[in-house]
Amino acid sequence: MVVRRIGVMSAAALLALALAACAGTGSAGGGTGRTFKIGIKFDQPGLGLKRGSTYTGLDVDVAKYVAKALGHNVADIQWVEAPSAQRETLLSTGQVDIVVATYSITDARKAKVSFAGPYFVAGQDLLVRSDETSITGPDTLTGKKLCSVKGSTSAQKVKDKYPGVQLQELNTYSQCVAALVSQGVDAVTTDNTILAGYAAQPQYAGMLKVVGKTFSEERYGIGIRKGAVTTCQKITAAIARMISSGAWQQAVDANLGPAGFTVDTRLNPPKQDPCS
Ligand code: GLU
Repeated sequence: MVVRRIGVMSAAALLALALAACAGTGSAGGGTGRTFKIGIKFDQPGLGLKRGSTYTGLDVDVAKYVAKALGHNVADIQWVEAPSAQRETLLSTGQVDIVVATYSITDARKAKVSFAGPYFVAGQDLLVRSDETSITGPDTLTGKKLCSVKGSTSAQKVKDKYPGVQLQELNTYSQCVAALVSQGVDAVTTDNTILAGYAAQPQYAGMLKVVGKTFSEERYGIGIRKGAVTTCQKITAAIARMISSGAWQQAVDANLGPAGFTVDTRLNPPKQDPCS
């Protein structure tokens, strides 16, 4: 009798719980109502680009794939702009759940955040005006004005390895490209993926070229809160599945193909690091 009564109460409790859960659903587009905040770039064509309320790029496609694997609906994703210098802070303060923003895995960053990945390997390169002949690689930059972005591995590399360069650090690469076009700087440096995306923009047709001599390996990871090992394992499995299923190649072709970008197949698709 006692057992039976508990059973009845449990059923009622379960029903109440189910009703409460239902009250939270029904958002437009079939979402669960649980917002999943993803930090991406808003101004990098082919990687992370916001146009009105539309978001495109390889990072966006990888982020959507991973979000689904973590149990979220695409309709519940909230895209948050994650400029290079703010990525660690956005993650550690909980303003975003994950960062998928041309975010290189580095030991320095691992002091503040954790990474799953890599899901792509790019390389640092230079973007110059089409008529430029004197800049042919990083060793030819002495005395030149170079633009890069605060908080990026690209700017750090120049400061560490090429101290004779006049480095200007702005907040975004699109600001650097605008400075290059208006002759305020002689070159822009960051990942070849990003530079190819700008060079292919219709408004810069015939004006810009990527030098094509990479001088680093940028292993793009998905930034997560420091020590979130279970999340890291789920994301790592999702990236591996994205690669083995062919979805990764499709996303790479669709997003980097239009810029005529040649993927380095010696480094891609990459093997993922173990989570720790
Ligand atoms: N991948 C490099 C980095 O994470 C450069 C690109 C960027 O700033 O997003 O710093």
